[in-house]
Amino acid sequence: MCELSANIAKAEVYLARFRSEGVLNHIGGKAVPALEGGWFETISPVDLRPLAQVARGKAADIAAAAAAAKAAFPAWRAMEGEARKALLHKIADAIEARAEEIAFVEAMDTGQSIRFMAKAALRGAENFRYFADLAPGARDGQSLRAKGQVNVTSRSPIGPVGIITPWNTPFMLSSWKIAPALAAGCTIVHKPAEFSPLTARLLVEIAEGAGLPPGVWNLVNGLGEDAGRALTEHPDIKAIGFVGESRTGSMIMKQGADTLKRVHFELGGKNPVIVFADADLERAADAASFMIYSLNGERCTSSSRLLVEASIYGKFTAMVADRAKRIVVGHPLDPKTVVGPLIHPVHEAKVLDYIAIGQAEGATLAAGGSKVAGPGGGCYVSPTLFTQATNQMRIAQEEIFGPVLTAIPFADEAEALALANDVQYGLAGYLWTSDVTRAFRFSDALEAGMIWVNSENVRHLPTPFGGVKNSGIGRDGAEWSFEFYMETKNVSFATTLHKIQKLDS
Ligand code: NAD
Repeated sequence: MCELSANIAKAEVYLARFRSEGVLNHIGGKAVPALEGGWFETISPVDLRPLAQVARGKAADIAAAAAAAKAAFPAWRAMEGEARKALLHKIADAIEARAEEIAFVEAMDTGQSIRFMAKAALRGAENFRYFADLAPGARDGQSLRAKGQVNVTSRSPIGPVGIITPWNTPFMLSSWKIAPALAAGCTIVHKPAEFSPLTARLLVEIAEGAGLPPGVWNLVNGLGEDAGRALTEHPDIKAIGFVGESRTGSMIMKQGADTLKRVHFELGGKNPVIVFADADLERAADAASFMIYSLNGERCTSSSRLLVEASIYGKFTAMVADRAKRIVVGHPLDPKTVVGPLIHPVHEAKVLDYIAIGQAEGATLAAGGSKVAGPGGGCYVSPTLFTQATNQMRIAQEEIFGPVLTAIPFADEAEALALANDVQYGLAGYLWTSDVTRAFRFSDALEAGMIWVNSENVRHLPTPFGGVKNSGIGRDGAEWSFEFYMETKNVSFATTLHKIQKLDS
C-alpha cells in the first residue's frame, strides 16, 4: 500500500468517532449536544463530503458555558502559579502524545498538507509550555517608591474570557490564544470556526484528561452570527481574544460595546516582501515562495505582495514563477504535497474570483491561475503569481488568503516604502537587502507590527505578535498576553505620618 493510501486509512480511524458521535460542545466538564438540538456539517475540502455533524450552539449554550466558566473561576484564580505551571506542562505532554491524531484530523478538516500539520501539535504543545513557565510570575508587579509612600502593583486575572478563532490553522492558533489565558488564571469559553471545528474538540478533551478542572475550559461550536455574537455580548465574559477577519473584528467591537468588553484582535494582512537588488536573491526567492505558498496561502502573515526593485524585477519574478510551477498540489495526506485543497468551496470561489479580477485589472499571470483537478475533486487551486501589477489593483490591496502572489516593481527605496505602506493592513513585513543601514531605516518606517529582515517568518515565542492599522489591536506573547488577560491593581502604603489636610479649620 502506498503512503497516501496508508495515511487515508489511518485518518479514517481518527475520524470515525466524529463521524459516529458528531462534534459535541463541552460545558462544565461534559460533552454535550446543542441545547436546541441543532447541528451543522463540516465537510472535507478533499471531496466535499461531510466529515461530521457539529453541535450548533446558540445563545443558550453560550449562557450555559459562561455560567460554567464563572463558577470555575474563583478556584482556578486561587490556584498557585506553580500548580498551574505543572498542569499546563501536563497538557503539553498530552498534546505531544496525540500529535499524530491531531495532525491527521487537522489535515483532513482544513486541507492543509500533512508535511506542515505534522508540526501543528508540537507547536501547540510549545505554546502551552512557554506560558506554563510564565504562570508563576504572572501576578507579579512593580514596587514604585515615592516620598512617604510605597506603591505596590499586582495583577489578577480579569475573569472568564471568550476566545474566538478562525479556520486556517485552528489547533496552533487556539493553543496560542488559550494557553496564556489559562496561565493568567482566566477561565474560558472557546468558539472555534465553523469550517474546521474538529481539533478544538480534541484540545479541550486532552486538557481535561490531563487534569484541568471541569468548567475552566468550555467549548461551544456554532455560527459566528449566533454563538459568536452571543459570546461577545455576554455580560459575564470580561474580554474577547479574537483571531479572524478585520471586518469581523469591527462587528465584535460593536457587539461588545454594551458590556464594555475588552478586546484583543489579530486580524487580516496584506503583507509586503520587499526585495532590493543587493539581496541574496536565491534565499529571498525561497522565502517569498514559502511565505505565500506554504499553508495553502491561508496564513495571516503570508507575504502576499512582492515588491521588487525594477532592475531585478524580471529576473526575480521569473525565479519565483519557476518555484511556484514546481510546487506539488495534491491530497493533504500525501507526504509530497505542499499545497492541499483550500478550506471550502465558498473560499475557493473567493480565491478564483480574485484571480479573475487580477486578469481583468490587467495584471499578467506568470504562474498558476486556475483550479486544479486534484484527488477527490476538491478545492484545489494552483500556486499563482501575478506580475506587472500596480498597487492600486484590488489584488494588491485586498486580502485573498490563498496561494496568490502579486508582484509590483519599484524604482527606489522611497517608492518601495510608499508602496509597502499604502494599504489598510499592517500585520507583517519581510525585507531583503544586504545594506544594514537601509534595513534599519526601512524597517523603522515600515508600518507593520512584525518585520523579518533577510528571513521568512521564524517565530520566537517571547517576541510580540500582532499588527498595526486594520491588522489588529494588542499583542500576544509573554507580558503582552498577560496585560490583556489580567487587571493591574496599585496599592499605596504610607511610610510616614505625613500631614493630612484638615477640612474643618
Ligand atoms: P472570520 O472573521 O470569518 O471568522 C473568525 C471567527 O469569528 C469564526 O469563529 C467565526 O465564526 C467568528 N465570527 C464570525 N462572525 C462573528 C460575529 N459577528 N461575532 C462573533 N464571532 C463571529 O475569519 P476566518 O475566515 O475564519 O479566518 C480568516 C481570517 O483570519 C483572515 O482575515 C486572516 O488574516 C485572519 N487571521 C489572522 C491571524 C492573526 O494572527 N492576525 C491569524 C490567522 C488568521
